[in-house]
Amino acid sequence: MIHQWKPNKYFIPISICPTVKGHLRSIVYDMQRASFSFIPNEMEEMISRFYGHRVSDILDSEFLDREVIEEYMDFLQEKEYAIWLDNVEQANAFTSLNTTWDSPMFITNAVVEITQKPKYGIDKLVNIINHLNCQNIQIKCQDEVGIVFLSELFNSFSRSVVKYIEIITRINPVHKQDEIIELMEKHPRVKFLISCLSDSSITYNADSGGVLVYSKSKFIIDPEKSLVFQQNLINNIELYTESQTHHTYFNRKLFIGANGDIKNFPEAEMVFGNLNNVSNVNEVMRMVNREDFQQYWNISKSETIVCKECELRNMCIDNRIPIKNNNGEWYHKTECNYNPYIAKWKGDVGCKSLVESGIEFNNGELKIDEVALFQAKQSIWG
Ligand code: SF4
Repeated sequence: MIHQWKPNKYFIPISICPTVKGHLRSIVYDMQRASFSFIPNEMEEMISRFYGHRVSDILDSEFLDREVIEEYMDFLQEKEYAIWLDNVEQANAFTSLNTTWDSPMFITNAVVEITQKPKYGIDKLVNIINHLNCQNIQIKCQDEVGIVFLSELFNSFSRSVVKYIEIITRINPVHKQDEIIELMEKHPRVKFLISCLSDSSITYNADSGGVLVYSKSKFIIDPEKSLVFQQNLINNIELYTESQTHHTYFNRKLFIGANGDIKNFPEAEMVFGNLNNVSNVNEVMRMVNREDFQQYWNISKSETIVCKECELRNMCIDNRIPIKNNNGEWYHKTECNYNPYIAKWKGDVGCKSLVESGIEFNNGELKIDEVALFQAKQSIWG
């Protein structure tokens, strides 16, 4: 390898590849490539501490052994996570990543339940979605549906602001996948069409970019269980910036149930109104503007016990409802599928629950048994 990081050069980590520190390890989010790399916490500290410093100063510092720093520089060069510049003026010309998030959409994602004979007018629904400028919608229909129903549904959204439609339903097996793909190609907004309770699991890609998935699963969501899985992690600038100050599941979400009930998220008990009784969009705007409708929008993972020590906190979408403890801190009643204290997913070899790792909650307050945690880490990582 030809070293770009000469001792007289200045070290500039790339701002679009920010690092996030976790309890046991850190991560570099490579948002342009939608990929990431796990790194040791000490490499994260080097990246954060020595931005814009001369390489020779870093090597001479007593921060880490020289060989370790050289090894880290090689890694950052190989992954293109940093550049090395000739003079400090050049270094000053680089701007840091703007992590401010905002959206022109008042509601960014709507989850809507319908039946084959909808209990509310689809035109009314589309009108409200348009006024909220909501461009992403997930439609769930538990009934078995045919191609005529799907075609009419897609047509209803053809002049709407919606750019992304995901449908979870059960397609009548008399319709072959070619017919469904043809329909999806006529409606490029339909990005995912998932037919559950199928005999086999198989995926087809439409030329329009849509994906048709036949799945054996039932798609039943248990609100008590975490939806966070390794394969659901999302690494992009939109989610990264939103997650700095917002909850990426609850923020700007709207739910409309099969009977027309309007809620702030599917798992919520509180109903804010019913679409059938709404006479104009201002009534929905008043519901959405209520403080209790937005109560979870601004809870970030950085303010939530356990999650704030997790390196994945800017790429996960977690549907567990946060609860406030007596100290005003947020926590969850149930565990995530990822344990950041030992860096293991449920199902991984050696994975332990939080309790088994020495982490306990007492009235929502975290208590760490350092000896038990050390032993848990030792047993897994040595
Ligand atoms: S522990 Fe929290 S931050 Fe980490 S993956 Fe789970 S929900 Fe996300």
